[in-house]
Amino acid sequence: MKKYFPFFGNYVVQQILKRRILPRTLQMPITGFCNSRCVTCNIWKPIYPRVHMEATLLKEALRDPFFAKVENVGLNGGEPSLYPEIEKLLDALFVLPHLQSIYIISNGMCAEPLKKMIYIIKEKCSQRKIKVHLSLSIDAVGKTHDQIRGVSTAFEKTMATLKELNANPQLYCDELTVGCTLSRENIARVVEVECLMEKLNIPSYCHLAVPNRRLYNFDSSDFSILNDRRSLLMAAAYFFGRFKYEKSLRKRIIAFCTYYYLRQNGHDRIAGCNYLRSDVTITERMELYLCATASECIGNLREHTASELIASEKLKAVERNTKRYCDTCTHYVSFPTFRGLLFFIVEKLKSAVWVSYKIRAEFMQCFK
Ligand code: SF4
Repeated sequence: MKKYFPFFGNYVVQQILKRRILPRTLQMPITGFCNSRCVTCNIWKPIYPRVHMEATLLKEALRDPFFAKVENVGLNGGEPSLYPEIEKLLDALFVLPHLQSIYIISNGMCAEPLKKMIYIIKEKCSQRKIKVHLSLSIDAVGKTHDQIRGVSTAFEKTMATLKELNANPQLYCDELTVGCTLSRENIARVVEVECLMEKLNIPSYCHLAVPNRRLYNFDSSDFSILNDRRSLLMAAAYFFGRFKYEKSLRKRIIAFCTYYYLRQNGHDRIAGCNYLRSDVTITERMELYLCATASECIGNLREHTASELIASEKLKAVERNTKRYCDTCTHYVSFPTFRGLLFFIVEKLKSAVWVSYKIRAEFMQCFK
């Protein structure tokens, strides 16, 4: 319970007092290069600029006291295994005095570069007691995954990588999971991924594909479940099932938050989000954003320190504009708001209310 006190404190400061606190989590797309052609993302399209993050610039930027409380870093892309200077990047991250975990998301299509990269990360992080979490993206079984990823052999390659990693997971990470991004293309087949991962004994997690400024699809989200009534109903049924039958309470609450959001046709978020007034994103171009979803760029860390950017007038405008999207956003669903928790409890009690009516009805029947 003690470990949750800072969490509740930070929640109250951000969500109730509406005050900004230093970030605990840093999201970093470290490269714009990608070997996938996903229907849920446009980053791979040649019309968009592609660069790798410059590790030396990052190191300089992270020395700013604004990052002094960062505990978790997410590395993604593009495809992070295409990043060429991982050792320098780790050097930069180790400037963070309270770093506790690194979370990497990969499509797993290039086994050798990924294994090499993750092996280095694990080795260096173990020396500093930093946990490494690796998540491979699998959106469906077989051809559906290939179609979503736009690569004819994607499923075969990712599964081969997953099996190799899973044969000796402790060499590469502290936790290996599979992430499934739900869109109109795969919602009907989501359970197949779960069954396959259960067989391999690998935890899998599902989240909705969302329009995302950083992935250049913020204004064109045909893939979204919200744009198709049938998909929306299937997704709502799926998350309701998770809410009812997940073993862990935390997972049940998270599933309920997404179920409720879908039931409201994507117009009422009851999950908290720390990206509005705390956590931040640094892109491969060294641009500082709040979230990667709806936030506009606050400024570039090549030109200003993060402390300068956060104190600027631009931050206020970005925060105001981002907030307009929060209610319709379902990204980063990892804990409920107080209101969400209350709705969860009420929904849980519904069956108890029904049972009490049933007992009363039977009772009254007996004395009729
Ligand atoms: S738009 Fe979404 S991800 Fe961004 S701050 Fe709001 S809730 Fe969080």
